[in-house]
Amino acid sequence: VDFLVEKVKQFQHQDASLSAASISMGAALNDHTGEILNSGPLWGPDCQKFDLLGHLRKRKPDVNWVVVNDVSAALLRFANNPQYAQCRRINLITVSSGIACRTLDQSKSYIPVNKDGIQGEIGHIPIEFSLLNQPLTEICDCGGKNHLNAFSSGRGITKILHTFLSKSHPSSLFQKQLMAVRDNDHELTSTFFSLVKADDPTAIRILDAVTYPIAKMITHMLTIDAEIEKIIMTGGVVHAIEKHYMHSLLKNLGEIGLYQVSSPEAFFKKTLTLGINDDDSGLIGAAIAYDNKINSTI
Ligand SMILES: [Zn+2]
Repeated sequence: VDFLVEKVKQFQHQDASLSAASISMGAALNDHTGEILNSGPLWGPDCQKFDLLGHLRKRKPDVNWVVVNDVSAALLRFANNPQYAQCRRINLITVSSGIACRTLDQSKSYIPVNKDGIQGEIGHIPIEFSLLNQPLTEICDCGGKNHLNAFSSGRGITKILHTFLSKSHPSSLFQKQLMAVRDNDHELTSTFFSLVKADDPTAIRILDAVTYPIAKMITHMLTIDAEIEKIIMTGGVVHAIEKHYMHSLLKNLGEIGLYQVSSPEAFFKKTLTLGINDDDSGLIGAAIAYDNKINSTI
């Protein structure tokens, strides 16, 4: 709160007419109230709810504050693109330090939320995960057991690599390269991504295991919500290995299939698209969220 208030004061110093600030927040939040519900990756599993919007309004009431979830912001950015104008419903899945999705109803320019102000927190759904035929158990950043985040997010992949190295002997080049950087999580994950890009067979098998639960989520989403016409894949993990990530995801989707869809590969290829590899989605989406709020379309 101190940081945000200070930042806005600096901007007001440059431009006295500044009267509004919109924030894209990387945490599960109540869309009705702007209250942060939980952010395991930011503040750990024991973090409490925090009324960010309320505190900002109290500290600086002359500013019209808007707080929007970062996944919602990213989806608003893409929905604004003419490429998606004809789609009835668009879904966006982000795979980065955590995993979440949102669906936007284009006809009403609306991201539906439940009474708690939430939609699409798929990262916290418990799943069954196996790595090279071995079932694994992991704890999510939120403290929950076997949540999707604990395996398929960026942090999940790092955990899986540690488990893999602790259970295997360094015989292949893959294991030797990872062993050399195992004390540094960032290097461990980036070395894994380099091995994926080099088409290392073990790295590809691990990637396939990681994208499989996401593929299953997608088949559930498309089965239940028949109006979703596009799914945009984005986030740090996706963009680190774009071509390989999409190939692995589409391969798993093709194998799982979709009921009564005769050419699942072609169907999924048409439905899934890649987001833009930059850091601008939060910024652009927050501005659109503010405009929508002012125009009361959301
Ligand atoms: Zn969780």
